[in-house]
Amino acid sequence: MTSLRTRDRLINRLREEGIRNEAVLDVMRNTPRHLFVDEALAHRAYEDTALPIGYNQTLSQPYIVARMTEALLANGPVKRVLEVGTGSGYQTAILAQLVDQVFSVERILPLQEQARERMVLLGLRNVKMKHADGGLGWPEKAPFDAIMVTAAPRELPEELLSQLADPGRMVIPVGPDEHQELVLVTKNKEGIKREALEAVRFVPLLGGATS
Ligand code: SAH
Repeated sequence: MTSLRTRDRLINRLREEGIRNEAVLDVMRNTPRHLFVDEALAHRAYEDTALPIGYNQTLSQPYIVARMTEALLANGPVKRVLEVGTGSGYQTAILAQLVDQVFSVERILPLQEQARERMVLLGLRNVKMKHADGGLGWPEKAPFDAIMVTAAPRELPEELLSQLADPGRMVIPVGPDEHQELVLVTKNKEGIKREALEAVRFVPLLGGATS
């Protein structure tokens, strides 16, 4: 159930859904998603579906992970990435294999601790984690060439926008529970551009950090 054939089936499906970046597809084929969920759910890890990770949070659907990663990388190689909402660490692990350095912020401490163990297990050493309210970004490490947010605020957080480098790209779900849109924000000499990619459903971006 976690065999290469099962994983290949998922990759084929991502292709059918329109994912074209071969580097992203390759990394997703080679990253063991079953290690990011509870053992009882491991048999569903290569379905194209979101899965619960406890604390009322979810590991995003593979298609969404691929789509967001592809959008972030669409303008060429990226060096420093801020990720808000580490969760299971699956998206973190995908990013870590495609960019130079990932800075990932999570507000629920036990989730962050598990994610940290998974990075060690997979030998991913270019990830730095912080337990904090990621809506405030990580000012000491800014600016970031790219920012990926995996929980939805109602409005685009100004703090994050200000920590985005020029040029820079941010992928973020925005809106209330029932009407979220995945938004691509690009910053460059001409200014800041906002482009809606598709309708999505993420958990809300909450304020404050919790143990
Ligand atoms: N990318 C994750 C998705 C996890 S769900 C994965 O693939 O597993 C969204 C995550 O965002 C949750 O872990 C939630 O705790 C976290 N989150 C929500 N609001 C946050 C905030 N303000 N700061 C940091 N993390 C936040």
